[in-house]
Amino acid sequence: MRLLLLGPPGAGKGTQAARLVKTLSIPQLSTGDMLRTAVQAGTPLGLQVKAVMDAGQLVSDKLVIGIVADRIGQPDCQKGFILDGFPRTFGQAEALDSMLLNHNMKLDYVIELKVKEEALLARMEKRVQETQINGQSIRTDDNPDSFRIRLAAYRAQTAAVADYYKKTGLLRSVDGMQSVEQVSQAIDDILGL
Ligand code: AMP
Repeated sequence: MRLLLLGPPGAGKGTQAARLVKTLSIPQLSTGDMLRTAVQAGTPLGLQVKAVMDAGQLVSDKLVIGIVADRIGQPDCQKGFILDGFPRTFGQAEALDSMLLNHNMKLDYVIELKVKEEALLARMEKRVQETQINGQSIRTDDNPDSFRIRLAAYRAQTAAVADYYKKTGLLRSVDGMQSVEQVSQAIDDILGL
């Protein structure tokens, strides 16, 4: 199964993706996680993107498209994957279409988690509390200033990605304001699990 999870930062995509990895035994392709790994490892890519990520801005299409194109070609992606955090722009959505075409693949589901903006900041603050190591958040972009910029980037660029998939008829929306269990159930219902 090839599944794409869409939604603003803090909507619960990561939580749902991690759960579905176990249920479906397919990898989660999170561009955010891949970029954070590169930053932590201090690779040339990591050094290039750190400041942009810390500021809550989007990394260039070229870079993230390259990362996903490499990842999709790996053997563990042959039986399916869960995309989380990519595509985030119209250009990335188009690039994904060509990548899938090249690999003779297609998306089976696009699920959008809808959450009210007021709730997102509170969720981010909760995540900061829950993910601290030695008093420091492991996500250097989880602070109110960069979170607001991430939300603005979502509104300005990623909301259009949902429209892109609406036109293809693939988009299904789930009320992300529900409890984690209810959101999980709604997703499972869509996926027929
Ligand atoms: P995330 O973990 O998905 O919230 O992503 C964290 C940060 O990584 C974002 O705020 C961006 O700086 C960067 N990032 C992750 N995925 C993408 C993407 N598809 N396009 C551009 N930047 C991305």
